Amino acid sequence: MAQVYDRVALIGLGLIASSMFWAIRRAGLAGEVTGYARSAETRDTAREIGLCDRVCDSAAEAVEGADLVVLCTPVSAFGDLAAKFRPALKPGAIVSDVGSVKLAVIRDVGPHIPQGVHFVPGHPIAGTELSGPEAGFAEMFEHRYCILTPPPGTDRGAVEKVTELWRRAGSMVDEMDANHHDRVLAITSHLPHLIAYTIVGTAGDLESQLRRDDTENGDVVETREVIKYSAGGFRDFTRIAGSDPIMWRDVFLNNRDAVLEMLGRFSEDLTALQRAIRWGEGETLENWFRHTREIRSGVVEMGQAGQFIATEGDDDDSQQ
Ligand code: NAP
Repeated sequence: MAQVYDRVALIGLGLIASSMFWAIRRAGLAGEVTGYARSAETRDTAREIGLCDRVCDSAAEAVEGADLVVLCTPVSAFGDLAAKFRPALKPGAIVSDVGSVKLAVIRDVGPHIPQGVHFVPGHPIAGTELSGPEAGFAEMFEHRYCILTPPPGTDRGAVEKVTELWRRAGSMVDEMDANHHDRVLAITSHLPHLIAYTIVGTAGDLESQLRRDDTENGDVVETREVIKYSAGGFRDFTRIAGSDPIMWRDVFLNNRDAVLEMLGRFSEDLTALQRAIRWGEGETLENWFRHTREIRSGVVEMGQAGQFIATEGDDDDSQQ
């Protein structure tokens, strides 16, 4: 299939960048893919596993001559990296990213985009809880949405070229305003992660306390009950709560308003359900659960449910 780019530079070589590389290679999208990661260890791993045609020791070196540069680190690093590679950007190049928040990325990266270079922010709604250069796979983006949030006035040719990359990686591409993206993703991705991080931490706390109480009572202490009985629904939360701490710290710090808004809505609904339980209002609970079951059916019908295999070594895919 036709090559779209002569050279693509991937800045950051973790889960998403490595998946992009394998997808780009499989689709024959680029003549050459260069890569840069912060640590020598990650760069060495990348070289060992053949991740990228050329792994560079600086972001500027990776970017030189590239017609597409994709920022693939945690979002808090984007601004500094863009400032560093800015002088190496070739005229007419496109800068894009895969960050999970978009307003903050436009705020941080936008000022470093020189005249004559195009900026097309993006977010593939695909991922797993794993990290690092060895975690990626070419099929990651298949049947998943990728959202592009080009600021008003962005060159349409540049947007089309980025769209083509994601389409050929197997994704459906949507365009929207960055603020809208951040509000939608706050409820579909960011809040679920926050809830998972909370419930897993709360359960861990409770387990320590139960163990202390049992010891004080002279009971035989059954160790690790939270882990042992996790198949009762808790397991899925632990998978999400195993996601990268730095990436998720950055998401919450950079999408604060939207996450706090959704958290407020969530707390109201949680309180309503709490009240229904307290007052024995079965109908309220049943209606709510029927409604959410319909939402789940919609997710399945849209082909966005992923797989759920209740055995070990499974490869569930999550959407972030
Ligand atoms: P990852 O596997 O943890 O990899 C992060 C990469 O960024 C590593 O190569 C790391 O280099 C590099 N890096 C970290 N901090 C850096 C810094 N300060 N300067 C330069 N390089 C730095 O991350 P990921 O899961 O691929 O996520 C990358 C981006 O994709 C994030 O912005 C995230 O919001 C977005 N995203 C993630 C998912 C997901 O499911 N994970 C889904 C959609 C979008 P070293 O290894 O050398 O430290």
